[in-house]
Amino acid sequence: MDAADRLPEAADVTIVGGGIIGTSTAYFLSTETDLDVLLVERDAIASGSTGDSSAIIRHHYGGDAIYSELAAWSHEFYRNFEAETGEAIAYEPNRLVRMGEAGAESGDYADAGYEVLEDLDIPVSRYEGQELETEFPMLNLDGIDFAVEDETAAYSDATDVAGGFARAAQNEGATVVTGVTVDGFAVEDDAVTAVETDAGRVETDDVLLAAGPWTPDLAEKVDVDVPIRREREQIILLEPSDEFVAEEYDMLPTTSRPGVFWYMRPDFNDGVLIATHYRGEEVDPDAYKRDPDQEILLELVDEIEDFVPGLTDAKLRGEYCGVYSNTPDRDFILDQIGPQGFHVACGFSGHGFKHGPSMGKVLSDMVAEGDTDLTDLSYFSMDRFEDNPEGHEGGTR
Ligand SMILES: Cc1cc2nc3c(=O)[nH]c(=O)nc-3n(C[C@H](O)[C@H](O)[C@H](O)COP(=O)(O)OP(=O)(O)OC[C@H]3O[C@@H](n4cnc5c(N)ncnc54)[C@H](O)[C@@H]3O)c2cc1C
Repeated sequence: MDAADRLPEAADVTIVGGGIIGTSTAYFLSTETDLDVLLVERDAIASGSTGDSSAIIRHHYGGDAIYSELAAWSHEFYRNFEAETGEAIAYEPNRLVRMGEAGAESGDYADAGYEVLEDLDIPVSRYEGQELETEFPMLNLDGIDFAVEDETAAYSDATDVAGGFARAAQNEGATVVTGVTVDGFAVEDDAVTAVETDAGRVETDDVLLAAGPWTPDLAEKVDVDVPIRREREQIILLEPSDEFVAEEYDMLPTTSRPGVFWYMRPDFNDGVLIATHYRGEEVDPDAYKRDPDQEILLELVDEIEDFVPGLTDAKLRGEYCGVYSNTPDRDFILDQIGPQGFHVACGFSGHGFKHGPSMGKVLSDMVAEGDTDLTDLSYFSMDRFEDNPEGHEGGTR
């Protein structure tokens, strides 16, 4: 059956993009509403930023309680993913640790998150002095005064999860079509009436544009300016020595050093993943270099050898690059904007995976009801850029 045969002539809601956000929203719309849902993905499910995600699930967001609350809701859903959706996913508990330098931004951020997590009853610990040494014997703790541990953090596999959401949505009646590109939208009397694709036209009342780094190009077609920068991030996978795995691996947290541009986490099959973030290199999501730069790779290896001396003789297991979609304040965009029935969800930066379930629920509510009880939608609206192109002061990290 070719793509044109799989595409329906009409749907109540058409979701553009089969990443974690589009698939999660398709799942919630099809389980919680009677709407007829279509998801259109131009390539394969999770072929965009989702497929490159480190899939860390954490709750610590400094003083940004709005994200900690959403992350906790999502994490609860992830814990019950199989029971909720019927689909099994990879899931590995691993504490996430914020290293703090007293009197510096890193210390203030770590402590602010400690208070938020305590208020929300999310397990959190704080270590300093001898306790710090005892908890992290594998780390070089120079320049680190204390650590805040998000005890119940975890990591997963984002391709697995997006595939699970897509299959579960289909089982609930949604239509998921891959290999079809959305080229534009038909608008009449200032309302969306159809989605135009390379396999034909679909009449629709609502569109959810969840096309990750490609969102601005599609939004432009209905004169909506989405202010995101697409930034390349570089990832290396290490294979530690048997000795490290036997002696130190089990206690290795997801963490980084204060003020650096990278983080690390354990990986499946006794690996270690190291990724850059927020380096600011803007790229075209259709034409960026897919393998890491040699100088960054060497820099990361040097940094990690200094921070985790036991990884000095680790072997390189893999390498790749992915794209973050960053708003100026790094806060998400969730909005009904432009023609009636046109909704945009993007700017998830390095956070879209852990917020996948809550975003699906919030966006399903937004499309079906115009609002949600799960969060304050006004915080994520595009209005914030009208008075100040930089958006919220501070923004998320
Ligand atoms: C290297 C890296 C590490 C990360 N680590 C983490 C992490 O540890 N924890 C965390 O929470 N988040 C993390 N993130 C962030 C998270 O992965 C993203 O925020 C999330 O995947 C974004 O999902 P999305 O659905 O918005 O976009 P995408 O996954 O990019 O999905 C958009 C989809 O739209 C499709 N599309 C584009 N144009 C069209 C069109 N014209 N027609 C039809 N379909 C189209 C694309 O093919 C794509 O599949 C990381 C991201 C990267 C890149």
